[in-house]
Amino acid sequence: MNVPWRHIQFTETCWLWTGPVHKRYGKYGGTTAHRHVFRALGGEIPEGLELDHLCMKPLCVNPDHLEPVTRAENVRRRREAYTECSNGHAYTPANTYIRPDGARDCRACIRVRVAAYKRRQAGVAA
Ligand SMILES: [Zn+2]
Ligand SMILES: [Zn+2]
Repeated sequence: MNVPWRHIQFTETCWLWTGPVHKRYGKYGGTTAHRHVFRALGGEIPEGLELDHLCMKPLCVNPDHLEPVTRAENVRRRREAYTECSNGHAYTPANTYIRPDGARDCRACIRVRVAAYKRRQAGVAA
């Protein structure tokens, strides 16, 4: 396997992927760019594990910043890393809803979504 060096931009710490991107992650040859580079440089990813970005940059393909972890561990780390939702509501215990897949959701945002849904429903009915 070759490392597509022409798609990698080196910063002081990270190797940033400049090639095609899909859902925030670099894309390469049917897999993610970071998985490909990690393997191409001799890294092993045990069956069923995901590569976690220790640097929190999804486009980074530096194997030193990648660690194979279980899905549950990955979700747990993300949870600790973020203290508020994308709309800036704090993830306090009272405001945090844990979805069946283990991911967090923001109760304040859910309320907004439900209210908008109900408004739409009312509009249709009227
Ligand atoms: Zn990095
Ligand atoms: Zn929110």
